[in-house]
Amino acid sequence: MKILFYDTKKYDKDSFEKARVSFPDIEIDYLEPDLSPQTASLAEGYDGVCAFVSSDVGAEVIDKLADKGVKLVLMRCAGFNNVDIDEAKAKGVTVLRVPGYSPEAVAEHAMMLALAVNRHVHKSYIRVRENNFSLAGLTGVNFHGKTAGIVGTGKIGAAMCRMCQGFGMKVIAYDMYPNKSLDFVEYVDLETLLKTSDLISLHCPLTDETYHMISEYTISRMKDNVILVNTSRGALINTADLIAGIRAKKFFGVGLDVYEEETNNVFENREDDILETSITSRLLSFPNVIVTSHQGFFTEEALLAISQTSLQNAMDYQAGSIDQANLVC
Ligand code: NAD
Repeated sequence: MKILFYDTKKYDKDSFEKARVSFPDIEIDYLEPDLSPQTASLAEGYDGVCAFVSSDVGAEVIDKLADKGVKLVLMRCAGFNNVDIDEAKAKGVTVLRVPGYSPEAVAEHAMMLALAVNRHVHKSYIRVRENNFSLAGLTGVNFHGKTAGIVGTGKIGAAMCRMCQGFGMKVIAYDMYPNKSLDFVEYVDLETLLKTSDLISLHCPLTDETYHMISEYTISRMKDNVILVNTSRGALINTADLIAGIRAKKFFGVGLDVYEEETNNVFENREDDILETSITSRLLSFPNVIVTSHQGFFTEEALLAISQTSLQNAMDYQAGSIDQANLVC
């Protein structure tokens, strides 16, 4: 089986080559460019392509892949909001993903962002390096005894709930499908969660329904001095409304691993570029905001699990025994 791997970084190749030892029937060619309408035709002659969160797996790409006889897309990630599912179904292209490769990796990053903005670690790190040992402006709050509001309690949200409980927080959550394993969590409606949480962490997928769920209105329902963390997908938050809320001093801190219009930035060194949009620069201009570049998943354990499951998906597809939990369409 031959796979064309798009948007290759060194760590991708390292982890997939390590995993490939157990999958000798799979050959992989690694490409640096990402999957897009311009690069899709390169997959001619391959059995499948391997794509990631910032790949374009829209209708045009699916059409081009199908025209070249490529009927398998291996998403080496959990989210699949960048896939045109209707088009894939129409063209008979199977899309497989890696759900829950390491929920703790993302939840730990979410908790790290919450703690870092709370205790101003980004500022104190710089200060101490400059021999400035002043504590002025670095006051945080105890998480112990506060309320954490978790939106979406699937695999990552559940891990975040457990971590918040470990910190001695009261944990409330909003999800249409309560997670029965979380017996310490009180499920509430979104309005109540917004009104009562000191820390809000987003862990639901990006769908038509969740697009811009954090908006001027929902921000207005939040407690003053709330900490907001998003490690899920950027478009859950209306960034213009978030920036207005930050300017209005609504937030104690904001931690973002994902943000709207991140696609061209994700995993690229753009230090010599003038960025196309001002969103990143505007978010970075605020002292109480920390932005990381979609690195929630980025642990050794997660990379290994992603490569093993992606290659297993390829073999299962070939054997006609797809794991339904990994099937997007
Ligand atoms: P999951 O499918 O296990 O859980 C998602 C949960 O969200 C489900 O319980 C679902 O019922 C709930 N949900 C759906 N719509 C909702 C809504 N409108 N309101 C409230 N809850 C809703 O997914 P997961 O593995 O926990 O991943 C969650 C998200 O994290 C993914 O969709 C992906 O976007 C993101 N993610 C980010 C990274 C990263 O590196 N930052 C890595 C992996 C996943």
